[in-house]
Amino acid sequence: MPSYVIDEKCDGCKGQDRTACMYICPNDLMILDVDAMKAYNQEPEFCWECYNCVKICPQQAIDVRGYADFVPMGASVVPLRGSEDIMWTVKFRNGTIKRFKFPIRTTDEGTAVPDGGFTEGAGDLNDQNLWTEPASLGVDALPTK
Ligand code: SF4
Ligand code: SF4
Repeated sequence: MPSYVIDEKCDGCKGQDRTACMYICPNDLMILDVDAMKAYNQEPEFCWECYNCVKICPQQAIDVRGYADFVPMGASVVPLRGSEDIMWTVKFRNGTIKRFKFPIRTTDEGTAVPDGGFTEGAGDLNDQNLWTEPASLGVDALPTK
């Protein structure tokens, strides 16, 4: 699912010349309807689902489907960016809510980049089990082939 702006939450970045989502989109997809003061994705078919606009939106007004390695089918995810990390809240289809933080670092040029030190769940890269899915289903592990 490409990015989708939730109208009720978007405040048009309070009428700034360039909204946060317009600034961050690497594909220049986001645009502001000045009359309505709401942003929207003008070409959804070109959306990379990169999550940049979702993470930068100060109103948490943008939604994109979560990546399946940490957001299993039927779940949703909302990131909340802080000064030192991004807090990700995952709501699973059985109602369980889990949160994890991913540290960020700001370079001298003011660019926020992922920083090291995050190792929890990294074993997923070599494991058929998704890190979060077994617990969300109430089991210790999923069967492997
Ligand atoms: Fe709306 Fe968020 Fe985009 Fe600002 S960054 S214009 S609040 S969707
Ligand atoms: Fe642009 Fe990425 Fe947002 Fe899609 S998810 S609109 S490519 S910033």
